[in-house]
Amino acid sequence: MADIVISEFMDADIANEVLGEFDLLYEPSLVDNRQALLSALADARAIIVRNRTQVDGELLEHGPNINVVGRLGVGLDNIDLDACRSRNVMVCPATGANDVAVAEYAIAAALILLRGVWHSGQKMLAGQWPRTDLMGREAQGKRFGLIGFGSIARQVAARAQALGMEVSAYDPYLAEDDPAWTSVTRVTLDEIATGCDVISAHVPLSDETRHIVDADFVRQMRAGAILINTARGGVVEEAVVIEALRGGQLGGAALDVFESEPLDTSGGAVFEGVPNLLLTPHIAGITEEANQRVSRVTAENVLKYLRQ
Ligand code: NAD
Repeated sequence: MADIVISEFMDADIANEVLGEFDLLYEPSLVDNRQALLSALADARAIIVRNRTQVDGELLEHGPNINVVGRLGVGLDNIDLDACRSRNVMVCPATGANDVAVAEYAIAAALILLRGVWHSGQKMLAGQWPRTDLMGREAQGKRFGLIGFGSIARQVAARAQALGMEVSAYDPYLAEDDPAWTSVTRVTLDEIATGCDVISAHVPLSDETRHIVDADFVRQMRAGAILINTARGGVVEEAVVIEALRGGQLGGAALDVFESEPLDTSGGAVFEGVPNLLLTPHIAGITEEANQRVSRVTAENVLKYLRQ
């Protein structure tokens, strides 16, 4: 039986390099086989997960010797923090290790959707030469709105400013005199909705942020505005965004995270045929570089706690 169970993908070479003194069970398929996962935990002292393994009371009961959870990334909504706390289980996110990947995704999505050229290949292959249909917009001079102004949002802000964009942010938990505000305009949530051309969400999922982008928010958005969600599926009310894209009110949306992951297409594939909708399978934070950084930080966090 293994000392450390790794139930989602990571850089296996880094796991072996850092944690080689322990018995490792590196089995990313365990995330899709709950019973096998629970059975593998009998002797485990640590579990390493991404965002899909539900670390809850049941899992910890099957792993009574677990004293650390390594989270390959940030966002702890798949981890029952109360259950961990009551059993003295330490939870270690890889804070900051994939910020750049998510920030570059948000900027890439903004540019692609403003320019609106990402589907031109299909038209050309169908014999068209759609030059005037594809008159896009520039980022320069537009206003980029951030919901949440934490670690990732600040990386997005710096990159948006480098493109000549004005940046506004909404984050009621960041003190008014925090030095981070010196580089961006501090605004209300309504001002994000009404005043920005591109809006990107970077908040954790909580009771307060669930559907922070709801019908009321979307109704206030500028005509042709672009919405990007790399935070968590529940942060954005998907059906409302889909309707606003179909109706032409929004100029585009990029969704990397969903209320149901993998995407639930059994209910009639609401996402099908929606114009200017970029869909990606929760990969904003995953690049080769970020995977290595996240794997190393997580493995080192786990090592630190197992050696204590
Ligand atoms: P962070 O903790 O550094 O920043 C989050 C910010 O949100 C904080 O400044 C906080 O004050 C603010 N906030 C909290 N509640 C708020 C509210 N109700 N309204 C406005 N602001 C609020 O986190 P981060 O590292 O920037 O990551 C943000 C989120 O991005 C994570 O929680 C995670 O869910 C998501 N994420 C997704 C991916 C991906 O691959 N798609 C990768 C990494 C992170």
